Amino acid sequence: MRSVKFNKNLKIFNRKDTIQIYLDDLRSSGKSIGFVPTMGALHAGHLSLIDAARKKADVVVCSIFVNPTQFNDKKDLENYPRPIEDDLKKLRQPGCDVLFLPEVDEMYIDSEFWEIELGNLDKILEGKIRPGHYQGVTQIVKKLFDILKPEFAFFGQKDYQQIKVIEFMVKKLNIRVKLIICPIIREIDGLAMSSRNINLLPEERLQAIALFQSLTLARELFKTKSVSRIKKEVQIFLRSCPGIEMEYFEIFNARTFKSINSKNAKTIIALVAARIGKIRIIDNMYLNKLNTY
Ligand code: AMP
Repeated sequence: MRSVKFNKNLKIFNRKDTIQIYLDDLRSSGKSIGFVPTMGALHAGHLSLIDAARKKADVVVCSIFVNPTQFNDKKDLENYPRPIEDDLKKLRQPGCDVLFLPEVDEMYIDSEFWEIELGNLDKILEGKIRPGHYQGVTQIVKKLFDILKPEFAFFGQKDYQQIKVIEFMVKKLNIRVKLIICPIIREIDGLAMSSRNINLLPEERLQAIALFQSLTLARELFKTKSVSRIKKEVQIFLRSCPGIEMEYFEIFNARTFKSINSKNAKTIIALVAARIGKIRIIDNMYLNKLNTY
């Protein structure tokens, strides 16, 4: 059996004030802080963000917090996996230095109000299907940034729209943090890793591969076909896949996050969302850039 090298020094904090004091101290001794926010049920995608943080920052802080304000569907919140013992095992391996693991009442007081104008980014695609989702995301990320004051924060390309939303908030509120985007980590068959994948039934797990296939098809078609033709053909493909209830398949300018009709943009991204049984799955892929999968 492979012996696991435990990171005995993993420091776990449940409270804002104690983690603040701890990190303030490190910061004043010149250490840079790299932050990886998560909702737990950690997989290789999350761990790749921790690796990226390790390379860039002196101190790696990960948070696990299933943020209730970003769930517009209460059932989804209830069913969200919370395997905390497994998560701790993964974090105790070298890589992560500090875990912030607060309870809900540590992060929120009753009847708290938050609203930020997000330049329409929270009204389209995921934002349209999950009203209020990005208000909840920005609310918690702002709180976490305020508490931890990281120099760098690491986010997965998997949630591309989330990155655009956070980028917008950081600019708008002049938050001093550098956002780093990390590539999507996939299963061997191409399915993007996600904490929700464990809730897929065996048959649904097989069907879920259609999202990755739709994106690779788009990438292939991109070489010869127009944007509108690609959209049409991929949407036809997705509608033909058993078990897949397509919510959207769109092609966007990755920088402006606006729908495009021509191939002029420097970076073009295809984004897809579908329901498979009770589970929603999202994925994306750059169509004209190499580091994709
Ligand atoms: P979550 O725990 O789902 O909120 O995700 C926490 C962070 O991990 C977010 O920045 C996600 O984009 C990122 N992430 C989730 N899945 C993946 C993946 N398959 N590859 C890379 N990053 C991921």
